[in-house]
Amino acid sequence: MSDVFDYVIVGAGSAGCVLADRLSADGRSTVCVLEAGGKDEKVNIRTPMLLQFTITDPSINWDYWTEPQKNLKDRKLYWPRGKTLGGSSSINAMHYMRGALENYDSWRDDYGCEGWSGQEALEAFKRVENNEDHGLPWHGKGGPLNVKTIRPLNPLTEMYFNACRERQMPENPDHNGASQEGFGPYQVTQKGGKRCSAADAFLKPAMQRPNLTVVTGALCHRVLLEDGRATGVRVEVDGEEKDVIARKEVILSGGALNSPHLLMLSGIGPADHLREHGISVEHDLPGVGENMQDHLDIMARARTSKPTSIGYSLRKFPATARDVLQWMFTGSGAFTVNPVQGCGFARSSVAGDLPDLQLVFIPALASPHGRETLTGHGMSLHICHLYPKSRGRLTLKSADPRDHIVIDPNYLDHEEDVTAMTDALEMASDILRSSAFDGEYKYHDLPWVPSASRSELEDDMRARAETLYHPTSTCAMGTGELAVTDPQCRVRGLEGLRVVDASVMPAVPGGNTNAPTIMVATRAADMILASQ
Ligand SMILES: Cc1cc2nc3c(=O)[nH]c(=O)nc-3n(C[C@H](O)[C@H](O)[C@H](O)COP(=O)(O)OP(=O)(O)OC[C@H]3O[C@@H](n4cnc5c(N)ncnc54)[C@H](O)[C@@H]3O)c2cc1C
Repeated sequence: MSDVFDYVIVGAGSAGCVLADRLSADGRSTVCVLEAGGKDEKVNIRTPMLLQFTITDPSINWDYWTEPQKNLKDRKLYWPRGKTLGGSSSINAMHYMRGALENYDSWRDDYGCEGWSGQEALEAFKRVENNEDHGLPWHGKGGPLNVKTIRPLNPLTEMYFNACRERQMPENPDHNGASQEGFGPYQVTQKGGKRCSAADAFLKPAMQRPNLTVVTGALCHRVLLEDGRATGVRVEVDGEEKDVIARKEVILSGGALNSPHLLMLSGIGPADHLREHGISVEHDLPGVGENMQDHLDIMARARTSKPTSIGYSLRKFPATARDVLQWMFTGSGAFTVNPVQGCGFARSSVAGDLPDLQLVFIPALASPHGRETLTGHGMSLHICHLYPKSRGRLTLKSADPRDHIVIDPNYLDHEEDVTAMTDALEMASDILRSSAFDGEYKYHDLPWVPSASRSELEDDMRARAETLYHPTSTCAMGTGELAVTDPQCRVRGLEGLRVVDASVMPAVPGGNTNAPTIMVATRAADMILASQ
């Protein structure tokens, strides 16, 4: 491979794949993508029903753990992140969710991010979308990212909808349309019964172009700087270190944990902290790794009496065997359907103008992150809090690029977050006890009793809450003191260096973060191409 390119992109995740496509499309520039993980050829990545075994597959995962969380009974939380072509879009739950357009208006109005507004975001969402079920004015057709509504739904998911009706929640067939409020099926990034990751949608078609080079197994160690300008990166491939030179720009798309990590390893970050680790300070930028947000999630779970749910049991064995054979020989059937099916947006007692709780119904007995495979039948309802006021931070463990960054999400630091999460657990538990599940519901399967007091609920929530995998804002765009990037994603105070991924979001959107990251990269590509 040549070692000199116009653009060098670090990370082939949700954002990196979009950039690789767009920057190579006009043929004027050479583009190199360096990805630490390997190819995305494993069957579990492709197969929606095998999601549980994808999230936890160590061969395609960075396998992060947080620091002990003082407000969550000193537990360390598991934080999977994708390490393969497609990045986290290759291991995620495939839910297509944009967040509320008001979120992006707030980026512009509250954080000074000119060029980012609900309307501008909507245009970019639509431009890259091919929605099989919904059209104008909210959806796009003909774009590379295939989106469809989950079907067929498990009968328990239909009962979950009835349980939501019982609570007077409105029905909402499109949570990416006029409003998020209410219940309905999830839309997913899938095509022909398979996952449609960012690599499938954007990178692989672009890899036919001679001006695009993609290197896997390439761990970037740091950005090379000369007189305040990024000139390339130091990368390790097959145990050997070398420099890859960028004539135009270096673009970090390593995700919300790794991009700030790379900046710090390059001497860009809070000066005192860099010195503590013996890193020479190239550019004092106090916001690097600060301001981190994430969606905290709590699950309620109930056993059911019939084998209606997805699950492993002797009673279900003949049907499961038939499903496996159908999938192996025809690539169709139950294994092509996402098991995480029922969506909902509702309000906690501390909600502002927008719904602040997102519901995720699974017609199966789920364990946190799928790390444990449970036998028998049941259903699980996750609810996460969308607008946390707590902020976490990332710090270095050492100057060694192979060491993981230290993650402190600082969950539940703000009292309103505790209230919202306790409301979430109460709501999830109530919904599972709804009469809509009559004949199915057997008992709550977690250390929780229907008569639990508010403080017992809070205690249980603190003992079990987990991440919903949406860290953002660690290289936040904006104009404030802690902003790391400007509204064009350029690292403030340096030339030739951008960050384009979930880390530049000034605040976490009210929904899942894959589609928003793809939107960010789509708009960032417009800006990069316009500045050529
Ligand atoms: C288990 C899980 C489930 C999720 N479910 C959903 C969902 O259903 N819907 C949704 O919208 N969102 C979901 N998300 C979140 C969403 O997938 C992410 O927010 C999004 O993919 C982030 O994109 P990114 O480009 O910022 O980072 P990533 O997609 O994580 O990409 C970063 C890439 O950079 C590479 N990289 C990092 N450091 C280096 C280095 N030093 N050198 C070279 N390469 C490097 C990584 O290996 C990775 O491929 C989920 C995430 C996870 C982990």
